[in-house]
Amino acid sequence: MKLPVGQAILGANDRVAGENRADFARGGVFVVNLMSAPGSGKTAILERTLAALAPQRRVGVIEGDVQGRLDAERLLRVADVPVVQINTDPVYGGECHLDARMIRGALPQLALDALDLVIVENVGNIVCPAEFDIGEDRRVMVLSVTEGEDKPLKYPLMFRVADALLLNKVDLVPALGTDLDAYRANVARVNPQLPVFALSARTGEGFDAWLAWLAAQTR
Ligand code: MG
Ligand code: ZN
Repeated sequence: MKLPVGQAILGANDRVAGENRADFARGGVFVVNLMSAPGSGKTAILERTLAALAPQRRVGVIEGDVQGRLDAERLLRVADVPVVQINTDPVYGGECHLDARMIRGALPQLALDALDLVIVENVGNIVCPAEFDIGEDRRVMVLSVTEGEDKPLKYPLMFRVADALLLNKVDLVPALGTDLDAYRANVARVNPQLPVFALSARTGEGFDAWLAWLAAQTR
């Protein structure tokens, strides 16, 4: 039987994701895949999360971007943790997502035995990162309150595959007049089980609940 091209690509990806997952399990590493559109605040959330966790937990980061090391450099300013950069351009044709093979290519640069938690900051994109298993244990999506409450209805896949949603930039709600209930209602229409943590990477509001959820997953 001939598989459609898309299915064949995803099948190959899933095989490599399985190899990654086995390596992570062998190294005793819990892996979080952090995904969102560009500008939702993944890196700002990581900065604050690393600052809170890195003193106690052995954390590593894989940074995915089309080009450059800007986010990796931001993280290295707040925490002394191993950060591995994946640039999809030019090695991977400038892809707008990370896939299992790219993670596999980065693993030799990470001492998994010396880590408890690896957070992968995916390429900023609200669509295709959700299609690629990279061997992670949990998928965490960031949506900011500047993006519009219609996003779960327009781009449902990422909301369906996520294990938690971080609703970022809630410090802007008073200025923007954002209807947070409308965000929550649309998220619930697409994925009623999805835990939603309203927070602000700028002020730190709401971070305790997110960090408690993360700790409970990795216990
Ligand atoms: Mg970023
Ligand atoms: Zn893509």
